[in-house]
Amino acid sequence: MVAIRYEDIVKVPKALLHDHLDGGLRPATVVELAAEVGHELPTTDPEALGRWFVDAANSGSLERYLETFAHTVAVMQTAPALRRVARECALDLAADGVVYAEVRFAPEQHLEQNLTLDEVVEAVVAGFTEGAAQAAEAGTPIRIGTLLTAMRHAARSQEIAELAVRHRDTGVVGFDIAGAEAGFPPTRHLDAFEYLQRENFHFTIHAGEAFGLPSIWQAIQWCGADRLGHGVRIVDDITPGQRPVLGRLAAYVRDKRIPLELCPSSNVQTGAAASIVDHPIGLLRDLRFRVTVNTDNRLMSGTSMSREMALLVEAFGYGWKELQWFTINAMKSAFIPFDERLEIIDEVIKPAYAKLLG
Ligand SMILES: [Zn+2]
Repeated sequence: MVAIRYEDIVKVPKALLHDHLDGGLRPATVVELAAEVGHELPTTDPEALGRWFVDAANSGSLERYLETFAHTVAVMQTAPALRRVARECALDLAADGVVYAEVRFAPEQHLEQNLTLDEVVEAVVAGFTEGAAQAAEAGTPIRIGTLLTAMRHAARSQEIAELAVRHRDTGVVGFDIAGAEAGFPPTRHLDAFEYLQRENFHFTIHAGEAFGLPSIWQAIQWCGADRLGHGVRIVDDITPGQRPVLGRLAAYVRDKRIPLELCPSSNVQTGAAASIVDHPIGLLRDLRFRVTVNTDNRLMSGTSMSREMALLVEAFGYGWKELQWFTINAMKSAFIPFDERLEIIDEVIKPAYAKLLG
C-alpha cells in the first residue's frame, strides 16, 4: 500500500457534521477580540494561548473541558465578533479541504451584550456566507449548514427549537442539545423534540459521550434523534470477541443506520476513549455502523479534519477506501436535502477519491 501523505489528505474532499463554532476560533482572533472587550485571558500570546486551550482540555474531565469555553464565548457577544468568527471558521475549514460542514453553536450563550436570539443567528449565518464566498474565490469551495444548539442544563430548548425552524430557509439545517450529560437527560427537552418532529425538522443529540447507554437509548427512542453526537458508548452494548455480539440497542442503531458523529481526539481528551488506537471507531467501522469522523472542538483539541483522518490512518492503517467511506457516510447523514447531498457525493467526493484509488 502506498503511504498516505498528509498534504493529500488536506486536498481530498472531506465532510464534517460535528464542529462547534465556539470551539474552533483562531487563537490570534481570541486575543484580538478579548482586547477589544477587555476580557482577561490566561495569556495574550496567540501561540501560548493555543497551547493553553489544548492543555486545559487535556485534563480528562468533560466538566473541565467545558470550562475552556468561558473564554471563547466571552469574546463572541457582538454581531461583528460573531460574524468574524463564523467567517474565519468557514475559511479555515475550506483551507483544510472540507467541502461540506455543519457547524453548531448555542445562541443563548451570546446574549450578554443584549443581542436578540435572531440577531445572533443572523450574524453567524452572514459570517458563514461571507467566508464561503471568499473560500470559493480562493478555489476551495465549501457549503456550510448551521445547527442551533440548546444547552441541556438550561430550560430554553423549546425557544431555540423555534428559532431554528424560523431560520430554516436561510441557512439553519438542524438542532442539537449539548453540555454536561450526567444528570441532564435528553428527555428533559422532550417538548422541543416533539415540536421539531411535527415541523419535519432534523436534529442530533449529544449522547453517549461521558454517559452510557441510557442516554443513547433516550436520545433515539424517546426523543427521536436523527443522529447521535458522539454515541461512542454504544460499544458498551457490544460484547467483543471473534464474532462480536450486539445488544438490542446497538443492533437497532446499526440496523437503522443511525449516524454516529465520532470525534476521536476530543473523545480521548474527555476520557471517553483511552487513546486513538483504543478508540471504538475501529470496532464500529469493522461492524459497519454508520460511522462519521469529526473534529468537535478544533481549538481545544488542536486539530483539524485532516489531522483526525491522519490519526486514524496512523492508528488503524486506513487507506483512501476507508477515508472515502467515512466521507460518504457523513455526506449521506447531512441535514441538507437528499438531492443536494447526492450532488456533493457524485460530483465532488467520488471523482476526487477515484483518482487516488486508481
Ligand atoms: Zn460536541
